[in-house]
Amino acid sequence: MTDTAVPTRRADPVAEVDRLRSTFATGRTRARGWRIRQLRGLERMLAEREDEFAAALASDLGRPSVDAWLADLAPTAAESHYARRHLRRWMRRRRTGLPLSVLPGRAHYEYEPLGVVLVIGPWNYPAYLTLAPLVAALAAGNCAVVKPSEYAPATAELLGTLLPRYLDPDAVAVVPGGPDETQALLAQGLDHVFFTGSPEVGAKVMEAAAPHLTPVTLELGGKSPVIVAADADVEVAARRIAWTKLMNSGQTCIAPDYVLADAAVADDLTERIVAETTRFRGGRTGGLRVVDARQATRLSGLLDGHGGTVVTGGTVDPDARTVEPTVVRDPDVGSRLMTEEIFGPILPVLTVDGVHAAVAHVNSGPKPLAAYVFTASSTTARRVTRDVPAGATVVNHLMFHVLAPQLPFGGVGRSGTGAYHGRFGFETFSHRRSVLRKPTRPDPGFVYPPYDGRTERLLRRIF
Ligand code: NAD
Repeated sequence: MTDTAVPTRRADPVAEVDRLRSTFATGRTRARGWRIRQLRGLERMLAEREDEFAAALASDLGRPSVDAWLADLAPTAAESHYARRHLRRWMRRRRTGLPLSVLPGRAHYEYEPLGVVLVIGPWNYPAYLTLAPLVAALAAGNCAVVKPSEYAPATAELLGTLLPRYLDPDAVAVVPGGPDETQALLAQGLDHVFFTGSPEVGAKVMEAAAPHLTPVTLELGGKSPVIVAADADVEVAARRIAWTKLMNSGQTCIAPDYVLADAAVADDLTERIVAETTRFRGGRTGGLRVVDARQATRLSGLLDGHGGTVVTGGTVDPDARTVEPTVVRDPDVGSRLMTEEIFGPILPVLTVDGVHAAVAHVNSGPKPLAAYVFTASSTTARRVTRDVPAGATVVNHLMFHVLAPQLPFGGVGRSGTGAYHGRFGFETFSHRRSVLRKPTRPDPGFVYPPYDGRTERLLRRIF
């Protein structure tokens, strides 16, 4: 726990889960009308309470209100709106054909809710990354326990106050707190756990879910690389890299973690990134606010002994919770800066001898949540997509894939398990139930034992 990690309101995890289980047993959350009402309620909350959310996000993260809207509220509302518009189609049962061995009969599969699910949120986008999974859970007809991050206490408090007012309070519960409260919830043997956070804590969540065989979705992090090829539009690449790195002071799971620049463009790219960073700050100097002193101290540690050259920035003030936007040229590949997820406004730029070397570097570490490549060549783009396993690949931009509900969002390997957004979130929180209906007649005798040579030959042909 840090100076800012204050559990907001006590709620008994066991009693809350029991309460939600009783609600789920009534069956009312299965109705499409109920699901639509929840999504509408959520959208209404975001519209009516925008100022309160902006104030909470400013308090937790020092975020300007335009960023609160852009990065937390607007994408949550868009996710809910999309789910609401497509829900009828998603919920439709799907008829299927049958093989000869199963005929005669009729079959379909349908989506049913899982039951009482748990959403564990992180602090970096504490509204969006807690509410977007909730959208999927409600669209799929579940009851949900929401456990917001204790490191964004104002947002956690606000969610605790508002969600029961705008949503069915017997189907959605907010349980604030940290690891102890989360472990107490996990010990209840819930029907699904959706976790967003670090790989280290993700492993603990998976471990706590395992004894109950509770399925988990893990939205984790990692070092998302940006490969800049010799043929890239360096001007645009620099602008987009600087913009996305500055967003939320670099505390974004799909932020560019580091750049691998072809030697032919590395100097030009670095200079331009520095220039764009200055321009985007609109005359402001000094550090950018990060969430708390613990994170500032951690980032300061990453700036020790990296073996590279600090091109700009480098100052960290843990007391003020600020970190200067920093570009480090050619740090040691074995340094902490190049092996740990940065999650702050520090950007290493590594010079590499072509795309091949860049791909080899990325593949020497765990699979990232996102891989970005700037190139004018579709062959290079295809090659990087094929050769770098990652949660997602974006060509000539960064982070925009998160805004498309048509795309599954999730990691692979150490960057996560499972996915959500749009239909993929609905599927994550649903069970695909198979239903097969058979007539009692005809009831051919040859399928039942004992078998003779003739019936065995027949069975071998059919099955
Ligand atoms: P975190 O792992 O520290 O905490 C996440 C949540 O886990 C919090 O709600 C916390 O209370 C809970 N928790 C902490 N210890 C626990 C324990 N022992 N048992 C059970 N629960 C516990 O993550 P964070 O610092 O809030 O977020 C930063 C990390 O999250 C980064 O690694 C980032 O890349 C990742 N992230 C991933 C995504 C994504 O969508 N894939 C999005 C945002 C952040």
